[in-house]
Amino acid sequence: MKKYSLSITLIICCLFNISIGYSQTLKVGAALRVITPNPLLPASGGIGTPKPTSEKKGDLFARAMVFEKGSTRIAIVNVDNLGWTSILGNKSRALIKGIPPENILIGATHTHSGPDAYAFPDATGKSSADLKYLDWCIQQIADAVNEAISKLEPASLKIAVDEAKGKIAYNYYAPALYDPRCGIIQAIATTGSKQGKAIATLVNYAVHPEVIGSGRSILSPDLCGPLYDRIESKAGGIALFMNGAQGGMVTADTRLEYGKEGAGQKEANTWEECIRIGELLADEALRIVEKAPVLENPNIYCVARKIEFPVDSEIMRYILKNSPLKHDLNKENTVSTQLNLLNIGPAQILTIPGEALPNIGYYVKRNMNTKLPFLFGLTNDAFGYMLTKVDFNSFKRYEYVSRTSLGEMTGEIYIEQALKLVKDSPKP
Ligand SMILES: [Zn+2]
Repeated sequence: MKKYSLSITLIICCLFNISIGYSQTLKVGAALRVITPNPLLPASGGIGTPKPTSEKKGDLFARAMVFEKGSTRIAIVNVDNLGWTSILGNKSRALIKGIPPENILIGATHTHSGPDAYAFPDATGKSSADLKYLDWCIQQIADAVNEAISKLEPASLKIAVDEAKGKIAYNYYAPALYDPRCGIIQAIATTGSKQGKAIATLVNYAVHPEVIGSGRSILSPDLCGPLYDRIESKAGGIALFMNGAQGGMVTADTRLEYGKEGAGQKEANTWEECIRIGELLADEALRIVEKAPVLENPNIYCVARKIEFPVDSEIMRYILKNSPLKHDLNKENTVSTQLNLLNIGPAQILTIPGEALPNIGYYVKRNMNTKLPFLFGLTNDAFGYMLTKVDFNSFKRYEYVSRTSLGEMTGEIYIEQALKLVKDSPKP
């Protein structure tokens, strides 16, 4: 009898140790910071000199969602900017306590009406970027994640992927060639005063937030601003937006005349149109996630891998070499970045360090180990467009996206590395 009681005590001790060391309950926390510059800064919509701004429509944000289960912690951050390089992201990672840097995913929404975060050099090699503003953003991003950690609480999840309906996005180069699927991860508090209410709702959808663009003297999160507001007013909690494979050239559907293509197509490039599209995408996301089953205490998994790309493009080499951010372009003219794979319950997430064309997105999603595939575009780095080798320098339409990509093999290397990571990782 004594023998049994000893082993029972041991078992109880073991269980107790687990419960005081690492909670086996899924916890989620979320927090945000406003990163609108004051005074306003010029807006950057791509390579070239940013354009002066005189007003703002909505605020720019850094938004963070943190997951914890057992000894695993994962942070997902979205930044309202055109692209957020790992030069900046790694500085935030160093300021975040309690999450290993490789478990922190930082993605840009790709708004074309935010300050220049690449510090694009002009023809003389000079950049007009405000490095003090970028330093401040680095701290705000870290603060948002650290606050999200402090707010971790037991949560269940609802996850869904389905087609978002209505006039939201289209492919400017070939109208029907885009991915209409919208992925949603919603965390719901299971205890305390907020029990049953949303902690955070993450929306994953491929679209260029360039309704306003950089040439209108306006600083804005574009359609992402109204999307956040709508999600938060309807569902509560904090909204996040992670872009998808939106390259070449999946954009907001602001067309005023259906069926008319190319030159002469009239567009509604107004803040009202940002509101219409942002709210429609938010409503669709909430409609899609509403019918999803509640996942009690799902598992989470995170892995990161360093991948390298050759930089064949002259323009990209020039930017990487001359930007005051001091990019890590090594002697062989390659850049490296962090590629992440997450399993969140039955869903799988892969990051893309740039703007993959939609055909790459379809192919990668089809080969992921899940019926709930998520692709986080422009995440951990944003190295321009990513085309397959057969698309590279092919159609005249692809001249611009080929020129602003690292090179012919960027898409191929990404696909190979991403699918290898899928193969080497557990199924969700
Ligand atoms: Zn783009």
